[in-house]
Amino acid sequence: MTNQLSTLCLKCLFFTGCIVLTQFQAHATALPCQAAQIKSFYINQTDHYPSDERDYCDLPTHQIPVEIRQMLEKIGETHEKSALFFQKTSTAAELFPEGITIVVSGSEQGSMAYASDPIANQIEITVFPDWKGPDFDSISYTHELGHIIASQTVKTLSIIESLDYLSVFSEGFADFLAMALNDGHIQKQDPSLSKCVNQAGDRDLNLLASFNDPAYQFSPKLLYDQLMSCCKRDPETQSSPNLQRLCKSIAIDIEKAGFQEAGDRPFDPKSCINSDTGKKNQLLCDSHKLGMPVNSMLLALNRKLHNSTRKSDKNIFELFLQSLALASSDPRDTFSCAYNNPEGLKHPLFLEASSYKPVFKHLKALLGPAMETEFGLLWNLHAIDKGMELSSLEETQVLLPERAFFKIKERTDKNPDGFYNTRNPCYKKYPDADTYSGDSKCRIICVDDPAH
Ligand SMILES: [Zn+2]
Repeated sequence: MTNQLSTLCLKCLFFTGCIVLTQFQAHATALPCQAAQIKSFYINQTDHYPSDERDYCDLPTHQIPVEIRQMLEKIGETHEKSALFFQKTSTAAELFPEGITIVVSGSEQGSMAYASDPIANQIEITVFPDWKGPDFDSISYTHELGHIIASQTVKTLSIIESLDYLSVFSEGFADFLAMALNDGHIQKQDPSLSKCVNQAGDRDLNLLASFNDPAYQFSPKLLYDQLMSCCKRDPETQSSPNLQRLCKSIAIDIEKAGFQEAGDRPFDPKSCINSDTGKKNQLLCDSHKLGMPVNSMLLALNRKLHNSTRKSDKNIFELFLQSLALASSDPRDTFSCAYNNPEGLKHPLFLEASSYKPVFKHLKALLGPAMETEFGLLWNLHAIDKGMELSSLEETQVLLPERAFFKIKERTDKNPDGFYNTRNPCYKKYPDADTYSGDSKCRIICVDDPAH
């Protein structure tokens, strides 16, 4: 259910308020938190637990409720599994040296509003307010962990951070991690939701997703329509007070969002991008859906690898990760940029853009000649060319001021003036990329920079 509701997806890349400066090690962390590489654990707005901002990681172990200790253990297992997947022999302490902050929040939307704040290394697990622990959706948690991992430079996988701004990659990669660590599953059936609500937008049910599907399949409106249909017609949904509150809040979101009708013509990548600003059209294109065709193709390739008479011990998830590692060493497009801040000072910036397509060139090579025909057939069946078209549209538009602003998070090592600095008037003014509108005083101008 993770972030199915794209307007609820609180993944805020530029959320300065959450930057935590304390060192993980410096803080007297309860043993179960330390073992799970959890920095802090809060519970807010539930009926059963006090909302007094207590950090359960600050409590002596025996004072942490037993169900919360079980939850910490389960989260720790997910952290270890991720570390093994990414770095094979390494530990969660290496992958998340600062530890993850976890906030369990009571929400009218129950488990449908999971969110992450990659800058603060924070994951929000949402539950209905009558939650008493320890159950939570560990698959959606893995999805959020994917966002955290994609926002930081993972050893030898720098391309992940670089591709994370592409609509086809961002949610797709978070789902990819969920699949890789949960036997190919992206979602979990949540017993606190009805069958109808669970099925609405269940990405596990869409394993034949293709970029040739009708446009409405990629629109955020589809999920809201499916949910409203459960709210209006499904007796199971109507009989639960929690789900009735969920329905009311969905109806309010629909009213606020003002979704556009996408229609049933085949999906057109150009419709997702505003050609003047380079920004994604969020009311028409939902990144969760845009990530599906690639993941569907990977799952189909996995089946071929295991069902063929040639039986392979290769796993598509590891091979795709290997392809990302190989693409991390490929040269990237770099741009030399500058912005004038309101004090009249000119600051240099270096931006970098990566293409998604070369990752698949590496994947095809790793799969070898025996899989070449199957790879080509699946590539066409899922119309991946259209996904690559959308990715290159976004890549070329990185030079547009609003896109450039979004890309500044890249190459921080080469941005000596540190754009993300609260003393920087341009950053102070636009702490969130969505509020930046190309103000002439802070406008970023870029040119191709083959020298870097
Ligand atoms: Zn997400």
